[in-house]
Amino acid sequence: MRRIIVSLLVAAVVSLPAVAQKVCAHRGYWQCPEAGYAQNSIASLRQAQENGFWGSEFDVHLTADSVVVVNHDPSINGISIHTSTYRELLKTHLPNGEFIPTLNEYLHQGAKSACMMVLEIKPQDTVEATLELARRCVWQLKAHGLLDPERVMFISFSYEACKWIAANLPGFHNQYLEGVVEPEQIAADGINGIDYHFIAFHKHPDWVERAHALGLTVNVWTVDSPEEMRYLKDLGVDVITTNRPDLASE
Ligand code: MG
Repeated sequence: MRRIIVSLLVAAVVSLPAVAQKVCAHRGYWQCPEAGYAQNSIASLRQAQENGFWGSEFDVHLTADSVVVVNHDPSINGISIHTSTYRELLKTHLPNGEFIPTLNEYLHQGAKSACMMVLEIKPQDTVEATLELARRCVWQLKAHGLLDPERVMFISFSYEACKWIAANLPGFHNQYLEGVVEPEQIAADGINGIDYHFIAFHKHPDWVERAHALGLTVNVWTVDSPEEMRYLKDLGVDVITTNRPDLASE
């Protein structure tokens, strides 16, 4: 009964753009020789766009002087992003020679195609800093004309960030990444999607159907083999994030 009530509430509150069986390139377009194998680079995003991917996932962090930058790890070549100014990060660069992209630069490229921007809000050193990062992302998406549920999907390991997106942008895809919370709890907290590791769905294949029954969108990361791709497509996962763009046609 509780599940039915939650489902009715979710259906009544949000109307999300439908997503079904889409493939998303991980960290821009990882393992991409044309991008110099530089994940989360402008060149990697451009490759995802030019290769016609539905979406391209990327990660953001906040510098000590509150600049949002695109990078997976909280450091770049040993330099901590959170405790450095943006200017200090320019002492180093990505493997392909690019400087670490600001979110502003990344979204400038993102706005050039219809490729969905799958934005991962990385947990910062404090919840306050994580929410500040989320706020700044929203401002910049708006400035680039990308604050649109058809253009951006939010994902995060921070439950607080997901709840903040749910409260402030209820009509946007908003996926929780830590694959330990059951779909019913996610829906009860107003979050409208999950983006769990392949292993989570191997362990709990019923979570996909249960999530769909609640109106949640289901993403998975990261697919690295044709077998995994077929397994997840058969399960009915909505967005499949892969490190192997060549698997898109599997
Ligand atoms: Mg990521």
